[in-house]
Amino acid sequence: MSFELPTLPYALNALEPNISQKTLEFHYGKHHQAYVNNLNNLVVGTKFENATLDTIVMEAEGGIFNNGAQIWNHTFYFTSFSPKGGGEPVGALADAIKKDFGSFAEFKDKFSKAAATLFGSGWAWLVKKQDGTLDIVQESNAGNPLRKGLKPILTCDVWEHAYYLDYQNRRPDYIESFWKVVDWTEVGKRF
Ligand code: MN
Repeated sequence: MSFELPTLPYALNALEPNISQKTLEFHYGKHHQAYVNNLNNLVVGTKFENATLDTIVMEAEGGIFNNGAQIWNHTFYFTSFSPKGGGEPVGALADAIKKDFGSFAEFKDKFSKAAATLFGSGWAWLVKKQDGTLDIVQESNAGNPLRKGLKPILTCDVWEHAYYLDYQNRRPDYIESFWKVVDWTEVGKRF
């Protein structure tokens, strides 16, 4: 079995001006692709050669974990967007956000702070805990909340490669634009 780069559900220029075609050409076309290529090379002759990506995220360590989790995380991230995104969720996820954070505005503020204050490279996540409530967690590097028994609902990639071409050092500006492309219909299905 070999791992493949997933197809994006939108064109590379579809998220402009919030996320540029140039950023997607590098972030998806080069970085995401490199994790796929690396993992395919690394698993040869190991017990993960025929493993699913979920198994690799849960059980692998070192380079196999790093590249496998980065594939998982990027696929999850890139499939959270739509050119018609933005706004707020509706239905069960909207109700849970209101219950657990007070309001969508309070959730957005808390998630944005988690993304902005994550030191170095990593990911901010909205997760569903085993008791059914929502929480926001930060993960460094390739970290994925599945390892802690948490169900990922939404993530924001804050590695510099996610925003440097468009926003340089202005991570908060990137986070503000991130909200404008979140596809709440898709994200709501994960809850
Ligand atoms: Mn990335």
